[in-house]
Amino acid sequence: MTSEAKVTISSHGKLDRALQSSSRAAQALKGQLNEHKPGEVIVKVKQSDGLQQELTSDYNLEVIEKFDLPANMMRGMQGDLLHLRLPVDVTTEQGLAMLRQDQRVAYAETNDILHAIDNGLPNDLNPKLWGLDNQGQGGGTVDADIDGPEAWRTSVGKNQSQGGPLIAVIDTGIDVAHPDLTANLWTNPGEIAGDGIDNDGNGTIDDVHGYNAIDGSGNPVDDVGHGSHCAGTIGAVGNNEQGVVGVQQNANMMAVKFLAKNGGTLADAVKAISYATKMGARVTSNSWGGGGYNQALKDVLENSPALHIFAAGNDKNNNDAKAAYPASYDLPNIIAVAATDKNDKLAGFSNYGLKTVDLGAPGVDIYSTTPGGNYQSYNGTSMACPHVAGAAGLLLATDPSLSNDQLRELLLGTTDKIPALEGKTVTGGRLNIGSAIAKLSGQEPPQPPAPPPANEGGCFNKIFG
Ligand code: CA
Ligand code: CA
Ligand code: CA
Ligand code: CA
Repeated sequence: MTSEAKVTISSHGKLDRALQSSSRAAQALKGQLNEHKPGEVIVKVKQSDGLQQELTSDYNLEVIEKFDLPANMMRGMQGDLLHLRLPVDVTTEQGLAMLRQDQRVAYAETNDILHAIDNGLPNDLNPKLWGLDNQGQGGGTVDADIDGPEAWRTSVGKNQSQGGPLIAVIDTGIDVAHPDLTANLWTNPGEIAGDGIDNDGNGTIDDVHGYNAIDGSGNPVDDVGHGSHCAGTIGAVGNNEQGVVGVQQNANMMAVKFLAKNGGTLADAVKAISYATKMGARVTSNSWGGGGYNQALKDVLENSPALHIFAAGNDKNNNDAKAAYPASYDLPNIIAVAATDKNDKLAGFSNYGLKTVDLGAPGVDIYSTTPGGNYQSYNGTSMACPHVAGAAGLLLATDPSLSNDQLRELLLGTTDKIPALEGKTVTGGRLNIGSAIAKLSGQEPPQPPAPPPANEGGCFNKIFG
């Protein structure tokens, strides 16, 4: 008993002395280590046998493993290789420094975390997502896409806890339980779910993930599918080994419902935009239109600090000749989006307008999330719009200080010019978020905003699906 106690004391003494004499070396290692398992080291002792016992006892080390290397490897190794755990109150830096100064140790290293060398692409970049990355699949044209993978080298977006920009999906609601959406939904920090109380006093009871303007509730249930589909394009959870990936792999999306199967009312649209604005939406995604020129709707859009992305409409209409509201409101914080296909052609159904439709984005055969944990392909400028909204989100995740004018310039100033959109849109181009992010991270000064589309003319309860 006595001799055991002695050993313990003497071990501790050795440990303390070693820590002290190596403290400067430990300090120098701070911040220099690769990603590693804290508190673990890989050590080679200079000779086999007795040394291991001595060393581990001196420094109170736990042997996790002594690697059982085959004889034909050991010949060249000249010493045992050990996987050790440091005492709990010794940092990895301290442990390394201490062991490296010990004559018995050939080397001591961190137990580094190693990663498979992959192509950097999320594991759910489904080949159906030609809009994000077109390799010519399904009869498409190579690179007739928005260059998602190129953009993701810089940013994959940010969710709410990462401080990501709030994107309001103003639509038919969102399936908030969809496994490919849930993690990327906004949660109202001031609201307690299911207690029947408006905890944050914002006028809506139990508005946890958003708002339903139709019944005034906090339950934006998607009984149509359209809104969930749009949400998936903006921000389906990336790299989670299921389904699809959105333009933003991490996102912060709010569900704001004012549309039912047969449309919605102007009054509910005003309430929807008002709610999104009140709760701090930075971008709104609006895949709807119809009605005529509504001053009230124009007023709320204009006076919301958010950037509003609108679908141009699905009536093969020239919006310059016959306006399609709300996309056609002449406001600097509205971007109107036409739909292109996997060959960079303007979709047959898509509205267009040299002065009133800003750019194109993928909107034919777009695969995304639908209620009940499902996935489907839809067509429409409704599907093009969320590509742009998601792109705006990626830019804001990269630089939250961007103004609407700067966002507009980045999105519109970096399109890929395509013949099908020449003379048909303000930019003559299709969204390219890869180029937009490159321009942003290249620190080029933002240029003056493009002149806002002119023209007003003389429709609002249609879903452009
Ligand atoms: Ca591409
Ligand atoms: Ca509330
Ligand atoms: Ca509540
Ligand atoms: Ca996914």
